[in-house]
Amino acid sequence: MSGDRAGTKQFDVGIAGAGQLARMTCLAAWPLGLRVGVLGQPGEPAVPMAAGLVEGDWQSAEDVARLGAVSGVVTLENEFVEASALAAVEAAGTPVRPGADALARVQDKALQKEMLRDAGLAVPRFMVAASADAAVAAGEQLGWPLMLKARKRGYDGYGNATCESTTDVGPAFERLDAGEGVLVEEWVPFVRELAVMIARRPSGGSLAYPIVETRQSHHVCHEVLVPAPSEPAVIAAAGELAAAAAEAAEGLGVTGVEMFELEDGRVMVNELAPRPHNSGHYSIEACETSQFENHLRGVLDLPLGSVALRQPGAAMVNLLGTYEGPANPTIGAPLAIPKSHLHLYGKTDVRIRRKMGHVTALGPDADTALDIAERAAGEVGL
Ligand code: ATP
Ligand code: MG
Repeated sequence: MSGDRAGTKQFDVGIAGAGQLARMTCLAAWPLGLRVGVLGQPGEPAVPMAAGLVEGDWQSAEDVARLGAVSGVVTLENEFVEASALAAVEAAGTPVRPGADALARVQDKALQKEMLRDAGLAVPRFMVAASADAAVAAGEQLGWPLMLKARKRGYDGYGNATCESTTDVGPAFERLDAGEGVLVEEWVPFVRELAVMIARRPSGGSLAYPIVETRQSHHVCHEVLVPAPSEPAVIAAAGELAAAAAEAAEGLGVTGVEMFELEDGRVMVNELAPRPHNSGHYSIEACETSQFENHLRGVLDLPLGSVALRQPGAAMVNLLGTYEGPANPTIGAPLAIPKSHLHLYGKTDVRIRRKMGHVTALGPDADTALDIAERAAGEVGL
């Protein structure tokens, strides 16, 4: 028997989760004849698109072990899976990509920043504060406003607090500390936020998608412009920094790298995501190979696909919930807008700022594409 898929298990790839990132990864798998299993509950976004469901919870080491037992390789859609649970999967003989040790360093924002700094890469000045008093002292050194970040499990800004002065620090520390202290960062007066997906495979080889501009509202990614409108020298520097960061983090498959661009053209890493990333969703229509397909190729150690843009510009707008209640999206009106591509994640309940879907548009430049995507997104009514 020949063939270069992972082997004889039920699934070629198992994803420890079943949200929208797993859903879009499953969709990318079918044309390649790959079987992707997901770990989650019936009703979650990825379940109808998966080759099979391992019913359980990615927060349970036992359930992650069951996923490993039926998968050729295990990968992630979020970085919060306990590294020890993934180490047990590796010990039982199933590769985990990215690996459990690499994940342990990335899933803790303090260890991640130390790892990047120790690799000689530009990051904001930071400290780890074990108490509110220590955070105040850090603020006196790093200046105000000051960013406090939970070390683990922060996403969409839920783990962050901006402190304007010493009086904000106590309550923020209380909220964010889970017993190991918090990450304290200087406030970065960025002119723009940049992001890029880096695809890597275990036997060597890596590719960088175009550098994009991300625009957040309330700390949540709202819009993505492709390519970023930065100077060529900034784009080149960001590409080098991101590739080095993904390598230092031992990323496999796709690593998302979020960066700050400063007024003087310098770039710094904000954070890494060891998995496909919201700012790469545009690649489904805009690139020769989507981030989800390249994630699969990377974790299976298959040749990576071209990341070239199909058109000079693209934009993506997230559909973020604007109310609390059952989802009842309008589909016809956005579909009537030419050159827009609608993605709904199948979530039945809307919550304020919950990621419900996204719209991508392609065009001669990013701004033209953004206009189209914004118009279509405005019609969905979520
Ligand atoms: P997400 O899940 O949305 O990627 P997150 O919750 O992990 O985010 P971060 O990426 O650390 O949090 O921060 C969210 C946003 O807050 C950033 O995109 C940026 O706009 C702002 N931010 C974070 N750190 C800083 C900083 N040091 N200075 C200024 N702004 C910051
Ligand atoms: Mg972020």
